[in-house]
Amino acid sequence: MKAPAFSYARPRQLHEMLTLLAQHGDEARLLAGGQTLLATLNMRLSEPALLIDMQGVNELKGLSLEGNTLRIGSMVTHTDIETSALVAKHAPLLTAAAPHIAHRAIRNMGTFGGSIAYGDPAAEWPACLLALNGVIVVRSLRGERRIAVDDFFTGLYTTDLAPDEVIVACELPVAFANQKTSFNELARRHGDYAVVGLAATAMVTDNTISAVRLAWIGVGSTPMRSPRAEQALNGQPLNVPTVTQAVEVLRSEIAPLPDLTHSEAAKRQLAGVLLKRALMSWMPSLNTVKGA
Ligand SMILES: Cc1cc2nc3c(=O)[nH]c(=O)nc-3n(C[C@H](O)[C@H](O)[C@H](O)COP(=O)(O)OP(=O)(O)OC[C@H]3O[C@@H](n4cnc5c(N)ncnc54)[C@H](O)[C@@H]3O)c2cc1C
Repeated sequence: MKAPAFSYARPRQLHEMLTLLAQHGDEARLLAGGQTLLATLNMRLSEPALLIDMQGVNELKGLSLEGNTLRIGSMVTHTDIETSALVAKHAPLLTAAAPHIAHRAIRNMGTFGGSIAYGDPAAEWPACLLALNGVIVVRSLRGERRIAVDDFFTGLYTTDLAPDEVIVACELPVAFANQKTSFNELARRHGDYAVVGLAATAMVTDNTISAVRLAWIGVGSTPMRSPRAEQALNGQPLNVPTVTQAVEVLRSEIAPLPDLTHSEAAKRQLAGVLLKRALMSWMPSLNTVKGA
């Protein structure tokens, strides 16, 4: 199928872009890398009168370190992140996750902001942002809003963004001493959307684990955390009984949505495997965990 006819605008300034968005309301769509939007237009799932191309707006581009914060412009591509030394140093979770996103051609075009705005519960960046406790910076003609990631994803492909708002950047606290991160996902083939995935962060000090954030991919209708499993880990020694207990708690806590190939029970099982792998990767001397 072909996309319906639409008008096209390519503003050069953020203010011009926000003005177009405010004027046209729901009749307009923002075009970032087009890796999701163009498919929905071609399938006529979306029929906007106007596409506002964001490629010309320099204020939305670039990765920068601002104090203890890594700022990722919304138009930064998946490949930019995958190959950035700044990201590798300050947000290694993102470097680990990037190669799991689709294939090279899509990573060259797809953007961080587009992925966050789309809010796909099976996508990698929303879960990473959740694990890293990021902030989404949004702008409209009404001003700027900073939204904590825990409040951003509100339902299936639904976010806290208002129709006249644009994500301009996302901000992450930089990796700190004793911070552990882990990204892992199970997919049928490399590059496919994950059946289940886990982006995890924690602090490990004197073998005690704390500040755990477990962000799940492909489990709920949004990228989601598992607070009871996190609680089962916080303040505990990082050892085999703790891991076993946390996996047990997790499996009783989550109720994964089945998909075309995996049942709820299979996904619950796989989520436990991923949690065990993450925790074990933070215990380099340990090779096996029995009973999880
Ligand atoms: C074959 C295929 C496989 C894929 N596999 C994966 C995968 O494994 N994992 C994964 O995570 N993704 C995958 N994707 C999606 C891809 O990562 C996209 O890059 C991602 O969904 C974002 O798309 P985009 O940046 O191109 O945004 P677009 O497609 O241009 O936009 C997506 C939506 O977000 C809105 N939007 C975009 N930017 C902003 C902004 N700054 N502010 C507000 N709204 C905005 C748009 O209006 C639109 O509604 C796949 C895509 C394809 C085609």
